[in-house]
Amino acid sequence: MDNIFSREEQIISRAEALLGTNSFQSAKDASNYRVLLDEYKILLRQMMKIVKMADKTQLDLKIVSEKLNRLSHIDVLTGLYNRRYFNEAYVKEWNSAVRSQKELAIIMIDIDYFKKYNDTYGHLQGDECLKAVADVIKKAVKRPRDLLARFGGEEFVVLLPETGLEGAVSVAQDVLFLVNGLDIEHAASPLQKKVTVSLGVAATLPQNNLAKEELINNSDKALYLAKSSGRNCYKEY
Ligand code: GH3
Ligand code: MG
Ligand code: MG
Repeated sequence: MDNIFSREEQIISRAEALLGTNSFQSAKDASNYRVLLDEYKILLRQMMKIVKMADKTQLDLKIVSEKLNRLSHIDVLTGLYNRRYFNEAYVKEWNSAVRSQKELAIIMIDIDYFKKYNDTYGHLQGDECLKAVADVIKKAVKRPRDLLARFGGEEFVVLLPETGLEGAVSVAQDVLFLVNGLDIEHAASPLQKKVTVSLGVAATLPQNNLAKEELINNSDKALYLAKSSGRNCYKEY
């Protein structure tokens, strides 16, 4: 880093050099000059301290602001990305897919009969169930660019860049398998007395003239189909 006080340090060096010569008219003048020079040094040291403090404050602020920024993207309960982050990432991935002409896929995941789960086991256990389901879905979402987010209450969304319908279906099958494997008791579920999910899968080759929302709407329609065809399954749209 540049020494912003280099000029002041030069002034001190020159003054020290001057004091070493006999160019003062009297010893008193030399002594007064020395007193002034010492005061100048003290002032400079104080200035340096203040600049250091300002630097540290700026660094602290940067760390806090980065932390806040990260937190504003995270869902507190599950630790997954939140809807806001998903929305931002979705626009970026859509635009990137338009440029690269690679497919983009979405899986919408919704826990089945979750209201009944809360009614049976209470809201706190409902929260634990949400966390467990979120954790297990993570295992099915493997590529670095894939994005898993909490879309809403008991809904999750997976965004799969450079992925077609076939690839997305394979991830959806993994999610179904893993959630079933959790074996979380759900006595009030008309299904298998355990917690299950329904999934809607959609994929497209994004084009500039296509509406970005269409892909999300399609995965939502597919989810609706999965719900109406018995739940604990995936459907494509
Ligand atoms: P379906 O199979 O059709 O999806 O039925 P469902 O009961 O899962 O769907 P519904 O939309 O009727 O109810 C969703 C429930 O999810 C209701 C709501 O209280 C619960 N829920 C949403 N967010 C949370 C949360 O953060 N914690 C808990 N414990 N429950 C939540
Ligand atoms: Mg729902
Ligand atoms: Mg539900």
